[in-house]
Amino acid sequence: MEKVIKEFRFKCQMTACCCTNMEIFLNPYDILQIANQCSITTSEVLEKYILFLKDKESGIIRPIFKSARTGLCDFNLNKLCTIHSHRPLSCRLFPLGRIDGDFYLQEAKFCQGLENNDIVQLSDYLKDDDGNIYLEMTDIYHKIVNSLKNENLAILDNNYYNNLLNVLFYDYDYFYNGEYNHLSSREKMLLSFHLINILIEEFNKKIISDNQLLIDKLYLEGDKFIAKNIKKQEN
Ligand code: SF4
Ligand code: SF4
Repeated sequence: MEKVIKEFRFKCQMTACCCTNMEIFLNPYDILQIANQCSITTSEVLEKYILFLKDKESGIIRPIFKSARTGLCDFNLNKLCTIHSHRPLSCRLFPLGRIDGDFYLQEAKFCQGLENNDIVQLSDYLKDDDGNIYLEMTDIYHKIVNSLKNENLAILDNNYYNNLLNVLFYDYDYFYNGEYNHLSSREKMLLSFHLINILIEEFNKKIISDNQLLIDKLYLEGDKFIAKNIKKQEN
C-alpha cells in the first residue's frame, strides 16, 4: 500500500530523466492541449507524436508519447520542456502517482529532485498551470474508461463504433473539422465526453443501424449540448 501524501520534499533538477525511456500515458485532454499549444490539429498530434498501446485484457487503447518510449521526448529541448504550460498530466504529476484520487510518491530512484529538502505542498503542486482542469478532465475520462471495462466492453468488438469512440476521445479536430474552434479545450472535451456517452447508449440500445444516422444524431446532440451548456456560460 502506497503512503498517501499531502506534502513532499522535492525540487526538479531538470535532468530530463523522466522525459527519457518512459511510457508516458496521455489523456484526451492532454492531446487537445498539445494541439492548442503547438497550433496544430489533434490529427497532426496523433500522427507526429503518439503511439497507441492496447490493454491486453480489455482491448482499450491508450496513447503514449512515441519518442519518449525509446529515447528523449520530442518536446524536450536542452533539458527543458517546450510545452511546459501545456504538458500532460503524467508529466505534471511526476514524481507523484495517483490511485483512487489519492497521491503518493513514485519509486523513482533516478529522480534527483527527490534528494532536495524543499517542502512542496501537494495542493500548490497540483494547481500549477491549470492543473485542476487536467485532473477534472482525467477523472471524467477514467470514469468512462471504467464503464467500458466493466459494462460496455462489447462496443470495442464493433469496428465502426470502436473507431468512432477513439475519434471522439482523441481526435476532436477530425470529428468537428474546424467547427466550434472558439471553444476552450475544456469545453471541447466536455462536448466529446457527452457524445461518447451518447454513442455508448446508442450501442447498448441497438436501435440505430445506419451509420450516417448515427453520425447525424451525434452532431445534433453536440449542437444541443453547446446551446444548453456552453453558450449559457459565456453570457
Ligand atoms: S527526473 Fe526528477 S529531477 Fe529530473 S527532470 Fe524529472 S522530475 Fe526533474
Ligand atoms: S511533455 Fe515535456 S515534461 Fe512531458 S515528457 Fe515531454 S518534455 Fe518531458
